[in-house]
Amino acid sequence: MKRPFYFEETKRFGTLGRAGIIHTPHGDIRTPAFMAVGTKGEVKYLSFDDLHETGAQAMLSNGYHLRRQSPEIAEAGGLASWSTWHGPTLTDSGGFQVMSLGSGLGKVVSYDRAELEGGASKNGTVRIKATNTAHKERLAKITDKGVSFTDPFDGQPDFIGPEESMQIQCRIGADIHMAFDELTSLADDYDYNVEALKRTEKWARRSLKEHLKHRDDLGYHQSLYAVLQGGRWEDLRRSTAKKLAKMTVAGTQFDGFGLGGAFLKEDLGNILRWCNEELPANKPRHLLGLSHPDDIFVGVENGADTFDCVAPTREARHGKIYTRDGEINLRKFANDERPLDLDCDCATCKAGYTRASLRALWKSGDPDLKRAYWRLASIHNLRFIVRLTEEIRESILNDNFETYKTEFLQRYYH
Ligand SMILES: [Zn+2]
Repeated sequence: MKRPFYFEETKRFGTLGRAGIIHTPHGDIRTPAFMAVGTKGEVKYLSFDDLHETGAQAMLSNGYHLRRQSPEIAEAGGLASWSTWHGPTLTDSGGFQVMSLGSGLGKVVSYDRAELEGGASKNGTVRIKATNTAHKERLAKITDKGVSFTDPFDGQPDFIGPEESMQIQCRIGADIHMAFDELTSLADDYDYNVEALKRTEKWARRSLKEHLKHRDDLGYHQSLYAVLQGGRWEDLRRSTAKKLAKMTVAGTQFDGFGLGGAFLKEDLGNILRWCNEELPANKPRHLLGLSHPDDIFVGVENGADTFDCVAPTREARHGKIYTRDGEINLRKFANDERPLDLDCDCATCKAGYTRASLRALWKSGDPDLKRAYWRLASIHNLRFIVRLTEEIRESILNDNFETYKTEFLQRYYH
């Protein structure tokens, strides 16, 4: 019999910050923790050993990308048996991917105000000049039922709603699932957020209902998180947190919460605080899709337990390397024989690769060497962010969070 799912708070700091342990059927996650993103069940270019050596404790995969393989994954006994990663797993609902087909935009996260043109309007909200058509018809159409879309690969019509998303996720069988939600963008106004939030709350109830039917199909308990939306408005964020915290279907409530949305960097702390002040302390909270060090610190001190983002590995593949002294672009280091980061304990740095030697692999023009570069650079950046969360956890346990945060951020953003 696999172990049950529950969250244990080990130590609290400030009002909302904490270190804890999420117990899942496939192992424990010591929090705060960063989850590696393996969209299709594998982290690109990394072997099983590579991933374990980064210290990642859990992997996040995607319901949309794995939907067609989900019967095969169920047959294998679930994601942890099917993939080379045998530890704790999480899937997201696929909602973001299908809605992105309608918007033509990548996920908008962590914008600095300076990058946008905006200004306060009469009611105190901020108008942001950005094009978003997420709720208009392009390749996807959102209705109360769910999202109809055209598969960009084969041009076939398809549909995912809360029921379909739960059926797909329960076949994939990750330890943690996300309810189907509608992500709004920074360009959506208050009124649209009210409308989208009503839909997200209805979809949450339908997700919970459908999840109950299938959550034990693979012989272990699969857990479900509700996803909180509501844009940058305090009344919406607090009211939805209250509703979703109490939402009950057949005596069952959500096992945890996903903190979703497109965030302006300056809003992130407030939004997380509004949500987490309303959520029960005995359930875990996952901040979706953010990994910049300053965002992780803000997340942790405002009550987020786990994080995921494709950025560390994606940016590594494009030459952006994380170091204690900030990000560097490898393009500029053709003759630099120093390691990527003097303080790094990742497998790439320990093996003696230098900035120049990695750059040479990257720029060689040989596909095999390029692939070797993608692997080595991904290992480094992933280890960097995983280690950051490990050190944050240590600092919480040692009553040293504020000092650690100040020192890290001063050096990183010097
Ligand atoms: Zn390294």
